[in-house]
Amino acid sequence: MNIGLYIHIPFCRKKCNYCDFYSIGGADAVPAEYIGAVKREIALYQPFTAATVYFGGGTPSLLAPHQVADILSAIDIRPGAEITLEANPDTLTPEKLAGYRAAGVNRLSVGVQTVYDSSLVSLGRIHDADKAALAFRWAKEAGFENISGDLMIGLDNYSYEEMYATIDFLKNRGATHISAYMLKIEEGTPFYYDTPKNLADEDRMADYYLAACKKLEELGYQQYEISNFCLPGYHSRHNTIYWRLEDYLGIGPGAHSCMGGKRFYYPRDLSAFIAAGNTVQDGTVDADDYIMLSLRLQSGLDFSQLESRYHLTPNDYVKKKLEIYAKQGFVCYDGNTVSLTPAGFLAENVIASDIMSNVTEI
Ligand code: SF4
Repeated sequence: MNIGLYIHIPFCRKKCNYCDFYSIGGADAVPAEYIGAVKREIALYQPFTAATVYFGGGTPSLLAPHQVADILSAIDIRPGAEITLEANPDTLTPEKLAGYRAAGVNRLSVGVQTVYDSSLVSLGRIHDADKAALAFRWAKEAGFENISGDLMIGLDNYSYEEMYATIDFLKNRGATHISAYMLKIEEGTPFYYDTPKNLADEDRMADYYLAACKKLEELGYQQYEISNFCLPGYHSRHNTIYWRLEDYLGIGPGAHSCMGGKRFYYPRDLSAFIAAGNTVQDGTVDADDYIMLSLRLQSGLDFSQLESRYHLTPNDYVKKKLEIYAKQGFVCYDGNTVSLTPAGFLAENVIASDIMSNVTEI
């Protein structure tokens, strides 16, 4: 069985002000007992072959290279598999990067966010733009040619200059892939209780998003998903497994899985994970998931696939509506496949919900 394997590393040096991922701040390394628990859980699900492996976090670049090698040695990995590690620039050294490469990691995802140091301070990030530049330089010297960079849009006192400077930085440092996210204020984070005063409102945020899509396209980055852009051939194979509802296994507290259409997850509790690693069932995937996730992808939703997988077909009302959306520039629609334009991605929830409520059984 081929799957995408996600390994969560729930440790960070310091929690960022906007972050609601499950991770424990104040860590400088990953304890050996955590590696043991990850390997114990991987063994439980064998046999499987990993078509992709993704170390996400938290801060996976707190792992020592020998820990990465130790985990990878416990997995049957398909030849040519994409093996990604998320990295915080502040935690990288040339030696560490060379060690990751030697262990088999072949793709890095660097949390750049912005190149304005004042914004990085406001976000609570521990790196600055110089560190991000060094991360790219050292990664290339260590032999990484597939490097993704994160871009966060709509920060406090944001400007087009800041956004374009960050995009240019990523392009000039050789990013093969860019993930562009709009800042969201998540409940329970420091920003939720003390929200920055000059955040972009919804309309300005939409303008930034559309401008980012345009600029990235001009620079040769194809938009293949609502938030993801790549040079030809460099899409994230691991994340595409999620969006296509293929089998993936997530290991670690807070990590979610979908195997054979069944969803389950580990609770957000580090001690419980280390002690026993019990998972919680979380239902099964259905046609709504399929519609929603397909529309995130530039390839769009194929109604003949919806019919063969779920025996559902769109009614005349929604077909008409899709033709209107096409005239308004929100979708491309050829009668069978509907895909969203950048403006359509901003209205994805509305368009997806129109389709979900207007498909009938055949
Ligand atoms: S954004 Fe990343 S580095 Fe910051 S607290 Fe969250 S997981 Fe850790």
